Amino acid sequence: MAELLSFATALERVLERARPLDAERVGVDSAALGRVLAEDARSPVDLPPFPSSAMDGFAVRAGDTPGTFPVAVRIAAGRPAPRALGPREAMGIATGAVVPDGADAVIPIEDVVDHDNEVEVPEVVTCGANVRSSGSDLRAGDVVFSRGNLLGPSALAAIAAAGIGGVLCARRPFIAVVVTGSELEPPGTPLRPGAIYDANTPLLAAQARTAGAEVRLTRVVVDEEGRHRETLAEALAAGIDVLLTSGGVSVGPHDLVRSTAAALGVEEVFWGVAVRPGKPLFFGVHDNTLVFGLPGNPVSSLVGFELFVRPALLALQGAAEPGPAFEAGILARAVRRNGARDQLVRARRRDGEHGSMLEPLSGQESHMIARAAQADALVLVRRGEGELAAGDAVQFLRLD
Ligand code: AMP
Ligand code: MG
Repeated sequence: MAELLSFATALERVLERARPLDAERVGVDSAALGRVLAEDARSPVDLPPFPSSAMDGFAVRAGDTPGTFPVAVRIAAGRPAPRALGPREAMGIATGAVVPDGADAVIPIEDVVDHDNEVEVPEVVTCGANVRSSGSDLRAGDVVFSRGNLLGPSALAAIAAAGIGGVLCARRPFIAVVVTGSELEPPGTPLRPGAIYDANTPLLAAQARTAGAEVRLTRVVVDEEGRHRETLAEALAAGIDVLLTSGGVSVGPHDLVRSTAAALGVEEVFWGVAVRPGKPLFFGVHDNTLVFGLPGNPVSSLVGFELFVRPALLALQGAAEPGPAFEAGILARAVRRNGARDQLVRARRRDGEHGSMLEPLSGQESHMIARAAQADALVLVRRGEGELAAGDAVQFLRLD
């Protein structure tokens, strides 16, 4: 392996090759959930579109109060009053109904005495009370949600509230997952001697989905050159944007991913990053397809995905900040640094008064996927001498 690339340089080399994919119009229903907006969504209307009542009560002129007023009409939501409110009268009004012209306040039903045809308002009402003015949430022409951001439930609601039925989003990246290893068996089958169950297909497919990608093809391939070539060629011809492989990128005689990829025309961008786990990570390009060779240990695959593949998938979708989204936290106990590589330490997070406390888990070896499954954070312990102490400020990535 040549000189190890620093994490930052490797990430830069990935992101500069992850250009946003073509955009398509997507309905503002659950189809747009988790997609990245490719244009600013601007509201064509004021929100609320008209002055509306914030309470069930009576629309009045504040200046008329207190007093007893005839109830001219009762206004329901969606059914504006047929006329303006006259002096010294009241109109019954429901939450969300149009406050009629002439009225400037709403008094809640709890604060009046309602006698069918007239209403007694015992106190002075403040002008503007319980009236939501038009445009108080948003003005016509304002940006409801800006490009490059991920559409969550509240963003979809805001866009729908503004009357926008469809938004432009980059299409979902298509990916293929090819795991390598003659020792692999699918879960749910008996385990032959020397075999282990394939954890990386479900891992990588699930991580890809949570990053907005669509998994088009998954394959498990034995460590044999012909099978590698056949399967990687099939994946590269499947119209995918990203090919993920696991295993077979180290220096052993059965590690065939790099040589096979090269024979199929994959141009190597780098091999070897100064991170732990995940050192032998490979990255290359084939036409417009990004190719990531993740090391086979499940925790190495998991970490390699979070450091490089998730950011790439988000960048392909046009995310303004593809990450990785490190946050500030505090180390709960001391961790020895590694002199040569940045470590991603599996930890549990406790959110307290002073921020997120991060408790490193025991069992940090890269085959320990069951231990890693207890973690909800990856703590970045930068390479260096000595150790980080309990209470030190660190950066971490959320895993949940
Ligand atoms: P490799 O990167 O191919 O040298 O594999 C490193 C280690 O990860 C070996 O112990 C493999 O058995 C294990 N491994 C590789 N692929 C998988 C997989 N899909 N699921 C679980 N373990 C794996
Ligand atoms: Mg292997």
